[in-house]
Amino acid sequence: GADNGRRGLRTVCIDPGHGGNDPGCVSRDKKTHESKIALDISKRLNRMITEGYPSVKVVMTRSTDVFIPLDKRAEIANKNDANLFISIHVNMVSNTSPNGYSIHVLGQSSHKDRDLFAYNMNVCRRENSVIMLEDDYSEKYQGFDPSDPESFIFFNLMQNAHLEQSLLFAQDVEHAMNAGPIKKSRGIWQDPFFVLWKTSMPAVLIEVGFMSNAADLAVLRTEEGRNKIAEDIYNAFKVFKKRYDSSVNAGTPEEVAVTKAEPAPKTAEKVAQAPVKTGKVYGVQVLASAKDMKDTDPFFKGYKPMKIKSGSLYKYIIGVSDTKSKTEVEYGKIRKSFAGSFIVAVDGDVITRIK
Ligand SMILES: [Zn+2]
Repeated sequence: GADNGRRGLRTVCIDPGHGGNDPGCVSRDKKTHESKIALDISKRLNRMITEGYPSVKVVMTRSTDVFIPLDKRAEIANKNDANLFISIHVNMVSNTSPNGYSIHVLGQSSHKDRDLFAYNMNVCRRENSVIMLEDDYSEKYQGFDPSDPESFIFFNLMQNAHLEQSLLFAQDVEHAMNAGPIKKSRGIWQDPFFVLWKTSMPAVLIEVGFMSNAADLAVLRTEEGRNKIAEDIYNAFKVFKKRYDSSVNAGTPEEVAVTKAEPAPKTAEKVAQAPVKTGKVYGVQVLASAKDMKDTDPFFKGYKPMKIKSGSLYKYIIGVSDTKSKTEVEYGKIRKSFAGSFIVAVDGDVITRIK
């Protein structure tokens, strides 16, 4: 296998959606269950990774038709120190025409269009609704009520240090699945999916196709179709692993600002070799989002953030000063209001996380 040894991507967690008393979405004729399709594709992906990369450990959140709560799925990934989390699902709407695949990463919805937003809120509710199947959900999910749109605002405050890597893998998947039997891409979305919020590594949720669309369903029902979908996701994994491993060897992926113009390893070299310039400042990154927000947004609690575009993300930085020690003092206050924030050095448009 093309493996880089001990450093780099060593463990991947594959999460087949639903299972047991939660079948997920079910075809009109009741013959096909999302839980079974997701498990089959996941097992194929597991085999491909295990064969192609014998030194990579593959952890499945379930390998039989059992019910696993969403928080338990994330816990399995976290406990195994997975470097990547891939959740596999099938989509469904009441209308039979929508088709294609979509990839979801954690975030507040980045789509302002009302219809798109309503559509996606439905997907989101469906994937989160499994929470309702658990008796103690109100305690376990800290007041999060999946049937109440207002409670989604709760997630707007959530941070995810791994968003950048998640988006990169989402792009790899979007590209690879374009060769597949279900070719239509519905894009990459930022959504408040519970399972993605609880995982502490790059994480994506893939809706491989629509159960409600005749053509997509026909593909999902064939072994050949499911195998090709697994193969496409495996191809995306190969691309991601290669880039991840080379950026780990040059620095850690989270510490490297990835820009579209330059591949990660080159950027990392540039960061490492750059002499200390007077233009360099320090600050506290409080948010990375695909959304271009106003500096008056209530999210920033009165702070006026510095905004830097990095790849497909905007990064928002407050408590900016010319020395690390001044920013560290500011950070003492800021961290109380912004959970998950961290100190960064900003040099032009290159942002480097400081431990
Ligand atoms: Zn699902």
